Amino acid sequence: MVTTAKDVLQLVAERNVRFIRLQFTDILGVVKNVAIPVSELERALANEIMFDGSSIEGFTRIEESDMNLRPDPSTFALFPWRPRENAVARLICDVYHPDGSPFAGDPRHVLRRALNEAATLGFSVQIGAECEFFLFHRSPEGKPTTVTHDEAGYFDLGPVDLGEDARRDIVIALAEMGIQVEASHHEVAPGQHEIDLKYSDALTAADQVVTLKFVARTIARQHDLHATFMPKPLFGVNGSGMHVHLSLLRGGQNAFFDPQGPHGLSQAALYFIGGLLAHAPAYTAVTNPLVNSYKRLVPGYEAPVHVAWSVQNRSTLVRVPVQRGAGTRLELRSPDPSCNPYLAFAVIIRAGLDGIRRRIEPPPPVDRNLYEMTAAERASLGIRRLPANLAEALAALENDPLIAETLGEHVYTHFLDAKRIEWEIYNSQVSNWELDQYLGTF
Ligand code: GLU
Ligand code: MG
Repeated sequence: MVTTAKDVLQLVAERNVRFIRLQFTDILGVVKNVAIPVSELERALANEIMFDGSSIEGFTRIEESDMNLRPDPSTFALFPWRPRENAVARLICDVYHPDGSPFAGDPRHVLRRALNEAATLGFSVQIGAECEFFLFHRSPEGKPTTVTHDEAGYFDLGPVDLGEDARRDIVIALAEMGIQVEASHHEVAPGQHEIDLKYSDALTAADQVVTLKFVARTIARQHDLHATFMPKPLFGVNGSGMHVHLSLLRGGQNAFFDPQGPHGLSQAALYFIGGLLAHAPAYTAVTNPLVNSYKRLVPGYEAPVHVAWSVQNRSTLVRVPVQRGAGTRLELRSPDPSCNPYLAFAVIIRAGLDGIRRRIEPPPPVDRNLYEMTAAERASLGIRRLPANLAEALAALENDPLIAETLGEHVYTHFLDAKRIEWEIYNSQVSNWELDQYLGTF
């Protein structure tokens, strides 16, 4: 594994690398990059590369636009789809001000801060993300469509699975980039796929999600398909989630496991669940950031709608998968793959840690299908609904100082401003559904 600047320089020479892409993400999770010729690499690894940040979402004001990129050598990877001669590689960077202070608008920095908070409590955080997405055909002009001829369902094998070749090539490309995939399979809806990343430390896990999305789009294009991580591209079938599996380690041991505890869970695990439930409305704006995200969080499509936890049942927000011992973990089922994974992991981690700090006891687990309960039954158990749309989620975010503090003033303000504008624009549209319902009748 590459870990130092020296290793990077050596590999670059061995593999005939000609260009390096210095990558980072903006607040909305869009990957940005600055390409440098290999002759500039030493300077880059000495943290001497500057770029103009003023044109990037949520970055700087014009008057302080010079930003410094600091490549993380452990993220070095070759793009396997590019030629072997004059190869192209990438390094993921942290963003700093020219004076050497970390830039508050860098999502990677927001996650690092949350991980420092975990470290002060004695924990390190392990995450494995399950990324669901659709593969659609492209129009003859190359535009993405929502057309899929694939009629396969969950776990089906070919020959019906037309996306199988593309998915396999995505997994191979990830492996060549050093990213291990735990499993990959067809999902429930036609054209829907899932790739599960192996557990790693939270920062690496976020880097890998960003990479997976970009690799999936690139490889799908080579198969004349479009890979989309839009949460609910089709009405009437499952949407795409990004379930986050998370455990805390303390002194190398799984801190969520206690063979004597209820359901084999430690007190820390129970408090963490308490925190995840308490802050759920507020972090939803970050884990489900699009207007479209809320079209997925409706009953009947295996996505959570209500704030509850369970030991098995898949209709709840938090589920405890069956593994115990070193594999003890919590699964948060609300996030979708349109989120910025650095920000999403940061708010999830801080919500859970707040449960530990403040000893928030979770309510009892709910082992019934929440979709099938009446509103009165849910109310009698004190079960709240997740925000029903982006506007509700933004209002909840504004009412939660812990989640706001986790993002930090800079990211919080830019995120809220951008998302409020998105909501207002959406809210003034007149949809086909409205015309069908109202035009003839009123
Ligand atoms: N696609 C479902 C969702 O929107 C999840 C299906 C599953 O349980 O893997 O979260
Ligand atoms: Mg799935």
